[in-house]
Amino acid sequence: KAAAAVRSVTVLGATGSIGDSTMDLLRAAKDRYRVEALTANSNVAGLAKLAKEFGARYVAVADSSRLTELKDALAGTRTECGAGESAVVEAAARPADWVMAAVSGAAGLKPALAAVDRGATVALANKECLVCAGDFFMERASKAGACILPADSEHNALFQALASGNREELVRVVITASGGPFRTWSSTDIEQATLAQALKHPNWSMGQKITIDSASMMNKGLEVIEAACLFGLTADEIDVLVHPQSIIHGMVEFSDRSVVAQLGAPDMRTPIAHCLGWPDRIVGPAAKLDLAKIGQLTFETPDFARFPGLKLAYEALRTGRGATTVYNAANEVAVAAFIAGKIRFGAIARLVEATLEAWIRAGNLAPLTSADDAITVDHNARNKAVTLLPQIALKAS
Ligand code: NAD
Ligand code: MG
Repeated sequence: KAAAAVRSVTVLGATGSIGDSTMDLLRAAKDRYRVEALTANSNVAGLAKLAKEFGARYVAVADSSRLTELKDALAGTRTECGAGESAVVEAAARPADWVMAAVSGAAGLKPALAAVDRGATVALANKECLVCAGDFFMERASKAGACILPADSEHNALFQALASGNREELVRVVITASGGPFRTWSSTDIEQATLAQALKHPNWSMGQKITIDSASMMNKGLEVIEAACLFGLTADEIDVLVHPQSIIHGMVEFSDRSVVAQLGAPDMRTPIAHCLGWPDRIVGPAAKLDLAKIGQLTFETPDFARFPGLKLAYEALRTGRGATTVYNAANEVAVAAFIAGKIRFGAIARLVEATLEAWIRAGNLAPLTSADDAITVDHNARNKAVTLLPQIALKAS
């Protein structure tokens, strides 16, 4: 058998939780991958360390004030350095066969699009960029001949299960949710939850923003919209099932009532390995699934009353015309405000709801015609959410 060709790869958000798992997989097979570019927001030390270890050709830090620091850290190496938003976009635009999009938030949209536009294979972890761009992300990918591989565990599961049938045979998809740290909490307790409590996820170790989104179940809301965009599904075709063990990640029901699921230990390196190897399979480092040891898999219906953020996602998806862009933008503002101690945990969903309502009331709903349109809506919705913050903060429930 001929030696497999070396694949060039770029990791956007290399210093984060998904970035870390991705670098782990690349480290285990260094002879098969060559690192083209790596990016980070502001962690210069972490980025420089990875650049040296992998001999990256280009590194970019989003914080433009850190260019000198980055250059100093990489003095004497052949790695080129860039800083600022445009440098992160350049990193994505550089020729690499495979790109991991793992920036956190809609800030990752422009770089992801730069990778998409040159027809790369893009492993997409950054769900906010998809929710922000709506249908335009996949449209642009298809125009450019880019291949989008879902790295989010639930969507990766659906991607694998969907291969068992075609669109006409599909009845619905199910994405599972661990339920997060507040799965059994009362509304009153959820309302008052602290940052430390929100950051204690039972099953997954992840970045701060997605961990808070998991506690509010906004993450599952984003994932419902993500599934709709990725696979061209309607709100009615997507169900959420609470499954505290996080072993089944996603299922697809077909017309003959066969339900095909993907299972695995809760370890992001499995879906990332699937994206990295695709269309083949590589060896993954996750623990072997031992169902006898786990003993029981349990399921619950999600509670829209205690987790209104999930209900709002369905509403935004049904409303369309930029509502999902607004949903994501308002949530990003709300999470930042919660981290900064400006609002209570329960106010996150209230801010999203108020922003969506104000948006609709102002007659701002209009069909988006491009990803750039979505970026404008995202920008305006953030401003709207910021102006609504003080009154939401005052309104105790
Ligand atoms: P993280 O906070 O650990 O890492 C984010 C990465 O993006 C870091 O490298 C950071 O430097 C970079 N970054 C942050 N803001 C940036 C900006 N404005 N411009 C450029 N770079 C920026 O987050 P994470 O947990 O790795 O999640 C990354 C994405 O993957 C998110 O969209 C998240 O929803 C998604 N995701 C994560 C997991 C998980 O297990 N962590 C699972 C599924 C999906
Ligand atoms: Mg997920």
